[in-house]
Amino acid sequence: MLFMDFSRCCERLEGTAGRLDMIGIISSVLPGLSDEELPVFVRFVMGRIFPDWSSQKLGIGPNLLYEAIGYVAGIKKEEVIERINVTGDVGRAVEELLLAKSQMTFFHEELDLVHVYRALVSIAGQEGKKSQREKLLEVRRLLANAHPLEGRYLARIMLEELRIGVGEGSVREAIAKAFGVDSDLVEHAMQALNDMGEVARLAKIGPDALGEVRITPFHPLRMMLAQQGTIPEMIQEHGEIAAEYKYDGSRFQFHKKGNWARLYSRRLEDVTAALPDVIEQLMMATDHDVILDGEVIAVKGGKPMPFQSVLRRFRRRHDVAEATGAIEMVPNVFDILYLDGETLIDLPFSERRKRLESTVRQFVAPQVTSSDQVIIEKMYADALAAGHEGIMIKVPSSPYTPGQRGKNWIKIKPQVDTLDLAVIGAEWGEGKRAHVFGSFLVACQDAGKLVPLSRVATGFSDEQLAEVYDLLKEGVIRKSGKEVTFEPSLVFEVGYAELQASQNYEGGFALRFPRFIRIRDDKDLTEIETIGSIRERYKRQANSAQAYQN
Ligand code: AMP
Repeated sequence: MLFMDFSRCCERLEGTAGRLDMIGIISSVLPGLSDEELPVFVRFVMGRIFPDWSSQKLGIGPNLLYEAIGYVAGIKKEEVIERINVTGDVGRAVEELLLAKSQMTFFHEELDLVHVYRALVSIAGQEGKKSQREKLLEVRRLLANAHPLEGRYLARIMLEELRIGVGEGSVREAIAKAFGVDSDLVEHAMQALNDMGEVARLAKIGPDALGEVRITPFHPLRMMLAQQGTIPEMIQEHGEIAAEYKYDGSRFQFHKKGNWARLYSRRLEDVTAALPDVIEQLMMATDHDVILDGEVIAVKGGKPMPFQSVLRRFRRRHDVAEATGAIEMVPNVFDILYLDGETLIDLPFSERRKRLESTVRQFVAPQVTSSDQVIIEKMYADALAAGHEGIMIKVPSSPYTPGQRGKNWIKIKPQVDTLDLAVIGAEWGEGKRAHVFGSFLVACQDAGKLVPLSRVATGFSDEQLAEVYDLLKEGVIRKSGKEVTFEPSLVFEVGYAELQASQNYEGGFALRFPRFIRIRDDKDLTEIETIGSIRERYKRQANSAQAYQN
């Protein structure tokens, strides 16, 4: 497939609002693709380059891309940024710039979908001192051969944000339609493989191939997530339930095969190098090939430490050896997804728990199973007394469903009103804080779009402001007076006293007394609060206010 054909397809999708029409367009393309093209097309059309399980990064920040665009268009980087500010989209800006330039050049090497993919793989593989320069040259080469329309999508793919509104659900349906397979089967295969490209390849072979998917060690799966709920509801619905402590640390997935082991964070980043002590403890705890799910906490004098000290260790790139002695990191394992070649995610939790207990000698999270509310509530009280966040309640008959926030895992914790929100802008601080950002614009999401919700200026210590500044300073894409705009990537947990209806912000709400609680760099932008859930909260808040008045 020519990259031009891919770009035309994206253009059609971009102009299509209906989900069914989108599915129709994608499914009509899939059967005509070769085995090599199919996975690339499927990932590209979702704005991804590598399989979701891969920690591979292209390693091209907006600045490097703007520089390459400037070179190819024969203008300064600052002018590129200006164009982007005007169009509000890097893709459109590149398209316009290439259009202006294409009147002057005559020769184009025709770009091919698979060749573009290979070039991106080669860019991602550049490491070492000269890598930025090499990356820049490759990006320039690609852009120089792009027609304007191709430039639009190439630039967006390089920032892994295609903006054509194609979500994973539409691609799943399109694969099912194109190859005549059940969409639940596609979904299940995606859960095990965590790469829609590979799923499409199997769907093309047929339903049997899709049904036989197996988990592969070192291809991390998405984490199963929890919903809110109550103990009585869970007992009423399921009878006997399993309760575990809810540890306030960082989620991990541990993969081990023979003497080789890796650790992945909740966002599936490979954090092996940062946490050698955790790896070592888990290696010693089992002789089997396994994939384990758990939460690592920091402990000092037998008491759990705040979550932030764990995150700091996950982020650590340097002086790891020095950091390992200071605070003890303790893994707590609560699930097993793979054992000696066998995929376990479809087994009931009670069965997985047996396998876990019989193969992992240490660090298995204690569990209480009961249908007696008094016993479960006692577990909850014990959890809080021991300094944990609360308890998790799990349905013993339930499978492990990667990436799903279902009703089979319920979290019970004291109610605090906080929201996880994306940081999209900031204002420079004043006085002694003039060299860092002092207040932040945070946003929730609405169908993939970011909607500004509030400004947050309190709750920060000086160290936290310095830390936040370090994390955000490379991401500035626009400046205007004291204000800056970021390429969104960072998530804040924000506390508030009340939700208010407000015309000041696009979403129609504002936060009363917003305050910074912590950085959530274990969460990505897809996990921030939705406008829908904020509306829900607002309704609940109004109901309880009314109940109070009555
Ligand atoms: P939340 O982040 O509030 O949605 O709560 C869900 C998170 O609790 C999971 O993603 C885990 O990181 C964490 N967690 C702590 N203890 C457990 C446990 N026993 N089982 C499952 N998740 C746990």
